[in-house]
Amino acid sequence: MSVVGIDLGFQNCYIAVARSGGIETIANEYSDRCTPACVSLASKNRMIGNAAKSQIITNFKNTVHGFKKFHGRAFDDPFVQAEKPKLPYSLHKLVNGSTGIKVPSFFTDAERRSVFDATQIAGLNCLRLINDTTAVALAYGIYKQDLPTPEERPRNVVFVDMGHSSFQVSITAFNKGKLKVLATAFDPYLGGRNFDEALVDYFCEEFKGKYKLNVRDNPRALLRLHQECEKLKKLMSANSSDLPLNIECFMNDIDVSSRMNRGQFEETCAQYLMRVEVPLKTVLEQSKLSRDDIYAVELVGGATRIPAIKERITKFFCKDISTTLNADEAVARGCALQCA
Ligand code: ATP
Ligand code: MG
Repeated sequence: MSVVGIDLGFQNCYIAVARSGGIETIANEYSDRCTPACVSLASKNRMIGNAAKSQIITNFKNTVHGFKKFHGRAFDDPFVQAEKPKLPYSLHKLVNGSTGIKVPSFFTDAERRSVFDATQIAGLNCLRLINDTTAVALAYGIYKQDLPTPEERPRNVVFVDMGHSSFQVSITAFNKGKLKVLATAFDPYLGGRNFDEALVDYFCEEFKGKYKLNVRDNPRALLRLHQECEKLKKLMSANSSDLPLNIECFMNDIDVSSRMNRGQFEETCAQYLMRVEVPLKTVLEQSKLSRDDIYAVELVGGATRIPAIKERITKFFCKDISTTLNADEAVARGCALQCA
């Protein structure tokens, strides 16, 4: 029997498997190791992953993404209520008060199930749920041959994971064959999507003045702008010069264009960048360690590629970042290891 580890992300999923003495992240039907956390329901079929992602704009009402944080939440939960107006699909209160997503009527079955139940539909037998923090620590520990012996002082490693929706930091003490999570801290509502939204806000404002367009009234245009803003955000991680944002036939047959550079991005997102340090401080305090006790700082999660975030982490711990882990796949690999 094969055992797999799954990182169920807000935006992306990764699956790793333990085989022939190693851990391998497996590819999907597109030979891609990363699968978008997305489901699209059409009148006759259901698509998942990459196929579903390509439907986000064309079939926006029935293509569900960004749903991870709705699991197990009541419809009246303030978080659900705050997210509701921003979604291209519609949320509904289920009979038991929990949150449901409205899609084509013959899928009412799917409407009632949470995505967790979908693991059973897919024929998976869920052995254990592990939090991301522990999984990442496992992924780190397994390949380190030079860890201190159990009698020696442990090696303390900080793991910083910022994904699409949340931010978590942990400090783990390693000895050979042993690990102990000393402290963890979170900002559960800080992630890459906040940066995308800040860019979307910025360009909506700009296009209102420049082209007299009310982008927020047009869900399709808004989704396209979201996708372009995410692309631009990623480009700005690699490039500090002025970068273009061009969308053809954006709304009312109008082509829009604008530019932004990394400096402007950092200004636009200042309110989010300010929040990076808070969990770092908390985790260090909780662990009762000093900065000198920290052996390495490891980054996980796509949003830690933003240079301004990296800088803040480096500066806070007075340490360069180590890159032992595969930032995207570490969680899934740790899960696979746990069960191997
Ligand atoms: P979560 O852990 O919050 O549930 P997730 O695991 O799906 O979410 P990741 O796959 O770790 O999230 O990261 C996705 C985020 O990282 C997205 O916001 C994406 O735009 C961002 N990202 C990926 N690459 C880059 C890059 N080069 N520069 C900036 N952001 C990036
Ligand atoms: Mg993640």
